[in-house]
Amino acid sequence: MSIAGSVANAPRSAIASGYNAFQMFVTSSRSWKHSEIRAADSNEFRRLVSGGGLAAYAHIPYLCNPSSTNKEMHGKSVHMLVDNMRNCEQLGVQYLVVHIGSHLGKGLKYGIANTSKALESGLASSGKVMVLLENTAGYTNSVGSKFDEIAEIIDGVGSKRVGMCLDTCHTFAAGYDLRTDSSVAGVMDELDSTVGLGKVKLVHLNDAKYGLGSHLDRHWHLGKGYIGRGGFLALFRNGALNRCGFIMETPVISAGDEKMNYDFASSVIREAGLEV
Ligand SMILES: [Zn+2]
Repeated sequence: MSIAGSVANAPRSAIASGYNAFQMFVTSSRSWKHSEIRAADSNEFRRLVSGGGLAAYAHIPYLCNPSSTNKEMHGKSVHMLVDNMRNCEQLGVQYLVVHIGSHLGKGLKYGIANTSKALESGLASSGKVMVLLENTAGYTNSVGSKFDEIAEIIDGVGSKRVGMCLDTCHTFAAGYDLRTDSSVAGVMDELDSTVGLGKVKLVHLNDAKYGLGSHLDRHWHLGKGYIGRGGFLALFRNGALNRCGFIMETPVISAGDEKMNYDFASSVIREAGLEV
């Protein structure tokens, strides 16, 4: 949801669309600049979120690369993380989704160590906000496409305030098959034995525009990509993630696309025997 004009516009739009959860940026999405939130706007935000019974999730801007092995980029990413944590705290947003980023060719272990360092600074700037590390599609040099890499970061930092956001498109693009009941069960077992299901607080519900293991981060309309209707039905039927929040990050190419995807998700959830 867009925060153009005021952060309060995000919950306002979510309520207008009939949603009970939404995701937003809490700083400018395309710059390194810190965004101060006016007290009047954060008060209005809190009023709308609690009045509407909404679950609010923040997403760090894509520029952020906490695993970067470039000193300047890493420093800027740490600042951005701290700013985002503070703004979340001001807004009463509990969860901040963070992309782990790229080690820029230096090697996975450097990327993991740098992410852990960044998280320690971020966690020190807020006593309440939990960071959710999002799994990646596994493009060259990216950190966190495999569940055990994310588990290594979470275990290494050793804070209760680091968890995971599972993106279905990235998971599938990274090579985890989500198309059938039995493949979903296998993937959930692996997730549980590495990260631990209890650490997964949010799901980004996206179909994949390209095939299994493509390593391409291209979200697609639910049911129209390679995961397909059967895959999402299997995921909800499996139930391992059903207590998580669900946020769609599907493309909006023409008017009505968002509603089309929401209606699709709702119908699959009902078909799995659950309430929307
Ligand atoms: Zn995502």
